[in-house]
Amino acid sequence: MRTTTLIGVGLWLLAACRSPAPNEPSPTTAVSEPTAPAPSPAPAGPPKVGSGHRVEALAITVLSTTNAPVGEGEWGFSALVEADGQRILFDTGKAPETVLHNAETLHVDLTTIPSVVLSHHHNDHVGGFMTLRRAVVERAPRALATAHVATGIFAPRRRAPKPDEINLMVAARSEFEATGGTFVVHDGPGEIVPGVWVTGPVPRVHPERNWGGDRLIEGPEGWVEDTLPEGQELVIDTDEGLVVLSGCGHAGVVNIVTHARAKIRQAPVRAAVGGFHLMDSTPAHIAWTGDRLREVGLQELLAAHCTGTPAIEHFGAHVVPEGKRALELGVGDTFVLPVQ
Ligand SMILES: [Zn+2]
Ligand SMILES: [Zn+2]
Repeated sequence: MRTTTLIGVGLWLLAACRSPAPNEPSPTTAVSEPTAPAPSPAPAGPPKVGSGHRVEALAITVLSTTNAPVGEGEWGFSALVEADGQRILFDTGKAPETVLHNAETLHVDLTTIPSVVLSHHHNDHVGGFMTLRRAVVERAPRALATAHVATGIFAPRRRAPKPDEINLMVAARSEFEATGGTFVVHDGPGEIVPGVWVTGPVPRVHPERNWGGDRLIEGPEGWVEDTLPEGQELVIDTDEGLVVLSGCGHAGVVNIVTHARAKIRQAPVRAAVGGFHLMDSTPAHIAWTGDRLREVGLQELLAAHCTGTPAIEHFGAHVVPEGKRALELGVGDTFVLPVQ
């Protein structure tokens, strides 16, 4: 894998953090969507959101996916994000040991990664979460000690008609906190280091249905279909446009991109990286998705996990500009900006 230049910039938490109430047992921190700045006499123009920082050096290295030219492959996803020297683990694979093993194979030092982003509760994204934290906590108590999640990730789930709890995050909540870890729960977009954002829950504006539909979630109205309300992805704001890193993209990549451009920056989409759950989609839905992404300037699709070969081939033939890439990444592959 390629190593980027390290630049010493401090951890940036944009959104206001709520202090736990005195009787609140959990160190979980809730983070609200940034509120609009107060009106000022400044010249007219688009409002500045967050730090305004654009990431100059970006590397995304895949640590878990099916295709594995090196290391172990599995039905899951995980990637290391390095953005101007800031390191973030995005998702943690399926089998407890896969990312641990692949990180060792790829010489990725997990003890230097302070935070992890979990895209949603599915086992193939959180399966390695506790194993990884436990692997580093004695040597580096602050490594993987902050977990960014979105509202809804701890809600009970089941696969009807079985009553068994299938959401690993229900148990992992207290297990992680017992190791000294802290959850930051996002209910809207949040800038977690300069230029790198979690989307928070993604509004379902477009009729995308990119999930399996065989599971239930417990909410205020009882057990209802689980639409993965906690699904959040990562958006890196670069000079070349937005890079969207997705775990499964159950909210739909068009909804994700629409949300990112509305709330983070109205910029072209430089690249879509990761899993986009188009593997079961009809050709018509794949074509519709491609048309919408072409409209927002998508340059490249670096797919993994659940994106599916038909979508990759369609994007290569009809969506990305001539000479740009639409391909499947494997374990150990790194997407780098600027392209060398
Ligand atoms: Zn999923
Ligand atoms: Zn998945």
